[in-house]
Formats: sequence, structure tokens, C-alpha cells
Amino acid sequence: MIDYHIHTKRCRHARGEMAEYVVEAEMKKLAEIGFADHFPLDLLGYTPQEQVTMESNELSGYFREIAELRHIAPFPVRAGLEVDYIPGREKQAAAALAGLELDYVIGSVHFLGDWDFTHPRFADHYHKIDVGEVYERYFQTVEDLAKSGLFDIVGHLDVVKKFAHYPSVPWDHLVEKVCRTLKKYGLCVELNTAGWRAPAREAYPGVSILEHVRDLGIPVTLGSDAHCPEDVGYKFREAVYLLKKLGIKEIATFSKRSMKMHSINNLIE
Ligand code: ZN
Ligand code: FE
Ligand code: FE
Ligand code: ZN
Repeated sequence: MIDYHIHTKRCRHARGEMAEYVVEAEMKKLAEIGFADHFPLDLLGYTPQEQVTMESNELSGYFREIAELRHIAPFPVRAGLEVDYIPGREKQAAAALAGLELDYVIGSVHFLGDWDFTHPRFADHYHKIDVGEVYERYFQTVEDLAKSGLFDIVGHLDVVKKFAHYPSVPWDHLVEKVCRTLKKYGLCVELNTAGWRAPAREAYPGVSILEHVRDLGIPVTLGSDAHCPEDVGYKFREAVYLLKKLGIKEIATFSKRSMKMHSINNLIE
């Protein structure tokens, strides 16, 4: 299997050496991995409530270390990034990403305005607002992310559920709409197993969204969102079982930002 969503300690909320992540992936018999650490927000002109990304001067070291690991890893090590989609900062993002030797870019929404809604420290805010409106705004922002053309993969598509706060009214129409937009703009969706570690206790995205993804033929890739070496390949057995049960038979990999589909069976040891 492949793990395309691996962080490094540069983001200040992950730990372990990059080589330790590679060793863990080898122990778990992964076929391919990709680092996708948090892209420096200062390059997007956005200051978060708490620093959760590497600094811009750490980018070159990040790519250098990936290049070094390619010499020792027994499988391909891809160079990815998890980049925040900040509405209105598309031009800065495009300029900052230009010239980087990337295999793929994961686009994620972690902020709504000033609020880092995925950070446990600020999760209380869910109690002070209309959760339905948060979902509406979140999925609208993901649509804008897709339309920006900056990204290959949408990160943790329904991460707005992370702390298990749900609207009191159905939100399936939002999900259907966002999936149609992802299809239209050619994005890939990751099955991100970190949701199983979060209060939501459900992968990102959940089963009903994955059904839309399958029905629309949106490509799927796989990631653990590991912030420590042990979490590489986290619950991948369950993830593969879930994909097969849903009738999703292929997994996307990326090289130099071009996508290739593989039969899941060929990626299992
Ligand atoms: Zn993180
Ligand atoms: Fe994320
Ligand atoms: Fe992540
Ligand atoms: Zn993430």
C-alpha cells in the first residue's frame, strides 16, 4: 500500500526523524510513501493563531532530506506538501509553489477566517456557533480550493467533523455539490485514516461521501496523516477493506504532479 500523507517535525506538532518514518513504512511493507508536511503559511501571508507549519527557510532542507532518503529507501519516496487553501491568496500560493520539485500537492482547509477549527485548543468554538453554517462555509471553501487549480489532492475532505460536532439539519446536499466540483476540476480525494484517531472516530471522508466519490469516478489515494513514525500506515488494513467493500478498486499515485492509477491488489504485499 502507499502512504501519501506524512508530516515531519518541521511543522512543530509532529515528532521523529524523517528516516524513522521511512523505517516504519518498510516494516509495514508499504510500496511507496510521500511526505506532505505543512507548507509555510508566511508564504501565503497568513498568520495562524498558533504556528502549525514549517518556516519558509526550512523548505529547502525538507526537499534535500527527501532527496537523501531516496537513496536509502527500498521504495519510492515522493515529495509532496500539504498546503492550506487560504481564500484570496491564490496568486501568492501559485508563486510560492512554482519552481518546487513536487510530486503532488495536497490542498487542505484548516482555517475558516481566523479560526483553526482542526486544532484541539480552539475546538470549543464549535459550541459558540451554528454548526450547520460552519459545514456550509467549510464545504464551500473546499469547492473554491478545487476551482483554484492549485492542488492535486483534497486533504481530509470532511475534516470539519473532526471533533464530532454535526449540524442539526442534513448536509448531504453540500457533500453532493462538493463532490461534483471535485470531479469537474479533476481532483483526487485521499482516504485519510487520521479520522479514526480523532473524536469523530471515522475516516476522512466518511462512508457516505466515499460512495459519492466512487459513483462519480473520482480518483482516490491513501494517507495516514502521520505526525509520528508509529502512525505511518495507520489502520491501512481497515482502509483497504473499506475501499474494497465500497467497490473502489484503484489507488492513485503521483510523480512530478502527474497521476497514475493502480489496482489495489497490486499494491498489497
Ligand atoms: Zn498537522
Ligand atoms: Fe491537515
Ligand atoms: Fe496533515
Ligand atoms: Zn492533515
